[in-house]
Amino acid sequence: MNIQPIYVLTSIFVGVAAVLAIADLALTDQEQKTINVNDDMYIPVSSSGMLLSILSANDIHIPAACGGKAACGHCKVEVKSGGGDMLPTEEAFISPKEEERGVRLACQVKVNEDMKIHVKPELLEVEEYTAEVEEIRDVTPTVKHVRLKMIKPTEIEFEAGQYAQLLVPGFDVFRAYSIASPPSMARDEDALQFTIKLVPGGLCTSWIHFALEEGDTVKFTGPYGHFYLDEESDRDIILIGGGAGMAPMRGILERLDELGMPRPTRYYFGARNSDELYYEDRFAELEEQYDNFEYIPALSDPTPEDQKNWDGPFGFVTDVIDEREGSLENTESYLCGPPVMLDAAERILVDHGMPKEKVMFDKF
Ligand SMILES: Cc1cc2nc3c(=O)[nH]c(=O)nc-3n(C[C@H](O)[C@H](O)[C@H](O)COP(=O)(O)OP(=O)(O)OC[C@H]3O[C@@H](n4cnc5c(N)ncnc54)[C@H](O)[C@@H]3O)c2cc1C
Repeated sequence: MNIQPIYVLTSIFVGVAAVLAIADLALTDQEQKTINVNDDMYIPVSSSGMLLSILSANDIHIPAACGGKAACGHCKVEVKSGGGDMLPTEEAFISPKEEERGVRLACQVKVNEDMKIHVKPELLEVEEYTAEVEEIRDVTPTVKHVRLKMIKPTEIEFEAGQYAQLLVPGFDVFRAYSIASPPSMARDEDALQFTIKLVPGGLCTSWIHFALEEGDTVKFTGPYGHFYLDEESDRDIILIGGGAGMAPMRGILERLDELGMPRPTRYYFGARNSDELYYEDRFAELEEQYDNFEYIPALSDPTPEDQKNWDGPFGFVTDVIDEREGSLENTESYLCGPPVMLDAAERILVDHGMPKEKVMFDKF
């Protein structure tokens, strides 16, 4: 029988194509994985990737202030099954107790198999927002005040002191920023305010300080965090802020103003010199309005001008607190700023009798 070469070739192609198609089907089947979230939601995953990104693509926004580099330790989830062993990059962030519960950093877990995870229920409420920059202005040479008007959705529920995560466009990474305005501003004006300090060479803050303009559209997720005003408590309040740590303090103060300053409150703010102070007029207004509110800024590295004109305290804010405060047994404190300042402040507050669990802080 004389078989034409063209038929031979065609048969080979058809055969190979069929084998490839079957192999592909088998492979796809094999690669199809499922993430079971809180025994309630099943996310199909067709190609492997990091748990954090897969959750985010499926509208589960786990906080990741460092942008997924295992540097902040915020993106913790409980992995009940699947996910492999904990990586050395996670060890510094996971306590032995958490390890027993299967806690992992979602940014370090590769989804290679079916997984069962538990996500804190409040994180399932977090949404992604589109907003417009309504106002951006300098409040010090290195701090910008930013007001965002929410476009979609326009509703956000949060507690005074919580934070949001801003998406850096073009880089697909988020950075955390405390909300510096009270929940009522979001409710009544669809707006949130932030105060953002420039970190030289920093990705997000360079974009905000040098490129972001009024009218630009931005995306953020939120709300996040367990650092917020306890409205049930009847203790006196000490707020301590430094640098960018102003933001949640201002949110908390504005909320206390809405409540009519129900408890004696003192706000200590640490700055190097008077150029680093901001929102002074607002705090003076609150002092005027309430006998039980006091604002105490302290300068640790005053300029020659400050040395002549400053009539407030000099030195580290922690030393000023130590000198001015008596027993703090019935006081609680909210601290936000650089870790060194917060560690020193915590020691002093506890020395003055404040129960350790009443010292609440957010380290930036
Ligand atoms: C819960 C939370 C709330 C926050 N709220 C605020 C806020 O209200 N306002 C605000 O300005 N910031 C806030 N931050 C800090 C903020 O999330 C970013 O870390 C900061 O703005 C730097 O981001 P970046 O992308 O510009 O710098 P990156 O590109 O992330 O960092 C550049 C370099 O600077 C270093 N670096 C990062 N952050 C700091 C820092 N704070 N000081 C010194 N060096 C640093 C990094 O290690 C890196 O080497 C908050 C952080 C957390 C965790």
